[in-house]
Amino acid sequence: MTFSHFDFRYIDLHTHFFPPDIFKAIWNFFELPDKNGKPRGWLIKYKYSAEKLVEILESKNVERFSTLNYAHKAGVADFINEWTNQLVKENKKALAFGCVSPEDKDRVDYILKIFDVYNFYGIKLQLLVQNFYPYDERMFEVYDVILDRGKWINFHVGTTPYSNRYVGYKNFTRFIEKYPNMNVIIAHLGTYEFEKFFRLLDKYDNIYLDTAMVYIDLDLFQKWKKNVELPTPELLLSYEDRIFYGSDFPNIPYDYEFSTKGLLELDLPKKFYENIFYNNAKRIFKLP
Ligand SMILES: [Zn+2]
Repeated sequence: MTFSHFDFRYIDLHTHFFPPDIFKAIWNFFELPDKNGKPRGWLIKYKYSAEKLVEILESKNVERFSTLNYAHKAGVADFINEWTNQLVKENKKALAFGCVSPEDKDRVDYILKIFDVYNFYGIKLQLLVQNFYPYDERMFEVYDVILDRGKWINFHVGTTPYSNRYVGYKNFTRFIEKYPNMNVIIAHLGTYEFEKFFRLLDKYDNIYLDTAMVYIDLDLFQKWKKNVELPTPELLLSYEDRIFYGSDFPNIPYDYEFSTKGLLELDLPKKFYENIFYNNAKRIFKLP
């Protein structure tokens, strides 16, 4: 391994920030056993206040980071967005992403506020939690605003760490065929339908991928069960301008540096790492 974590600076496009009570509920969900006695997720390493989380990111060479959160039910989005807006006012390094639920009857007002009042970069949609199809008609007016403003969707549409009927490549294609010019970040490189999602990059210029929790030795996404191979170094290199780095911090069970270890062990050229860790996000989001 030629490089180590601290040889680079980072723009982390997959970090989560929620209001404290909602964060606590999410951490409980990850950590508590389900009704069959099996852990639902994993133990969270960084259960701290937003201020402390920002400090930790800074100590890990992270210069900018996103504030991904999602509305798990109707009626919480506006409050979460307001909280996020306050957070980014106090933390200039945060890249604000908002949330909305298809069940919110005022969802169009919310999305207009997110962009026209708060000027966020985009929204996060977490289909495993929010339980709707990416092509759900209730979202069309919301999508129209996002497209019109040239904003972004970070989509958790892959089938890991677990799956439901709403996620997966097939469901996503129905969305992207309707919105071919949407700016989209596919979380987790689309695990584990890598090949299919990578192929979409040729067809749609505005699709990008994030690396969160993919090149991780712990195999929290149970790759061994699914009998899949991670994208090859050749594939990564050929799309090095379409991949963003993401960690999933703070909802990770290991030290932050572990998020880059697997990627660095591929021993790819320095330029590749600079692109995915920093340059791509800086260029695409026109960061100063
Ligand atoms: Zn995440």
